[in-house]
Amino acid sequence: MSHNMPRFKYCPKCGGGLKAFWESNIRRLACTDCAYVFYENPVVGVAGILLNEQGQILLGRRCRGKYSGYWCIPCGYVEYHEEVHEALRREFKEESNLDIEVLNPFTAQSNFHDPDKHSVGIWFWVRITGGSLSAGDDLDELGYFDLDDLPDLAFPTDRKVLEMLRQYLSGVIL
Ligand SMILES: [Zn+2]
Repeated sequence: MSHNMPRFKYCPKCGGGLKAFWESNIRRLACTDCAYVFYENPVVGVAGILLNEQGQILLGRRCRGKYSGYWCIPCGYVEYHEEVHEALRREFKEESNLDIEVLNPFTAQSNFHDPDKHSVGIWFWVRITGGSLSAGDDLDELGYFDLDDLPDLAFPTDRKVLEMLRQYLSGVIL
């Protein structure tokens, strides 16, 4: 990925100007007033893979922002003080009204599709423990889909993960 263009101009701690410097071939920004080093790290996203008895996956249709109208695996960002599994339980409840148990990760991938917000996503297997299916928050519709008959997807990484999942499940008797 390119490190040529700094995305930030001012120190988030004191408002001073940020100036670039090199550290082991990585371009970093540091405050010219308070010397704070502004590390640009990806944020962490979590997504839940929920299959029904027919082996279909639960997807939601997004209703906000630039991905409105496109479908995704229910997901969200981990808050700074939030435990990663708790974050997925919260996001799943907000978006589907389902209570879930978070099981093992299926995969973890870097997401570079949004230049303003790189993220590392973790796709967990989940299972329902309660609640009733109802779309909310960023989603206005939910549905179960065959892995070889998917709707228009919002995120390229979801597409990759769904193909990995299709291949994985084709070798698994459900
Ligand atoms: Zn500063």
